[in-house]
Amino acid sequence: MFLRRPHALCAQLLCALLLLISPTSVLADQASPKVVVTNGPLHALVYGVMQGVAKPVLLSSKNASHHGRDLRPSQLKRLSAADLLITMGKHIDTTVYKFAIANDIEIFSPGPDNTELLLEPRPLGVWDENHSIVKTETAFDEHGVDIHIWLSPANAVSLTSALVEKLSQVDPANADQYVANAQTQIKNIKAVDESLRVLLEASKNKPFVSYHDATQYLEYHYGLRSIASISVDDSHGTGARTVRDVRQAIADKNVRCLFREPGSEPKMIKSITENLNVKVVQYDPAGVLVTPGTEAWATTIRNVAEKLNGCLSDPG
Ligand SMILES: [Zn+2]
Repeated sequence: MFLRRPHALCAQLLCALLLLISPTSVLADQASPKVVVTNGPLHALVYGVMQGVAKPVLLSSKNASHHGRDLRPSQLKRLSAADLLITMGKHIDTTVYKFAIANDIEIFSPGPDNTELLLEPRPLGVWDENHSIVKTETAFDEHGVDIHIWLSPANAVSLTSALVEKLSQVDPANADQYVANAQTQIKNIKAVDESLRVLLEASKNKPFVSYHDATQYLEYHYGLRSIASISVDDSHGTGARTVRDVRQAIADKNVRCLFREPGSEPKMIKSITENLNVKVVQYDPAGVLVTPGTEAWATTIRNVAEKLNGCLSDPG
């Protein structure tokens, strides 16, 4: 991939001269793969593995849905220079994915080969207690897989290992650095996991409702229990029957907490919760309000756990 760049093809003498004139910029450019990532928590994991080598670009904006986005011309420009695109896959990042294929850019996506745990999406409405979480090994597809994979520490570990392999393949010169960074990152993920296990102990099996079903991986990992969701994402409407069923379940199961995301529809939440003794708490499972960086994965999952626990473990 690097050999295509004009400066890599220049004569040895000219390169040596450039090194003398501007050693830092030339060396950095030669040694650094250009990596573009489309999802905030995934970007954090990539950035952690690449620390000290290069900074991956996050191709996202605060208003972009984690369930799909269109490219702006400025974003397309950033992607056109990439050596590697790390994407949630062709069903979510459709235009980005097609662009990368057309321009012969290497692609890495989560799937059964590099992700510890994949779960089937749950339907809208109220779920059966015994069958609410189902594992799957299907290829990554929004309709067959719940895409919120980053909210599983086990997935963060397996993705970190797979990223080392992919980055080392694209950029073998820095393979040792990627391996060392990944070891540190996996240690950090496990430390976060341990602290969340302790934190969430008091919230185990306490029923809650999710405006949008984003927490299945957390529920599976820590023994939590959402009993219903209201909207697949904000582009989908919710029928009167679903509203009635969810209201009934809140009353029957003594549900105390409903979690909403930034951008959740206030009118819909009001129609679900009106005259019921349920608190509405905002959380941010996709990390859209989290500052991008190496800490963004840990910040995202910790914030979600703290919000869940703050409401579920509150005796009042
Ligand atoms: Zn989502």
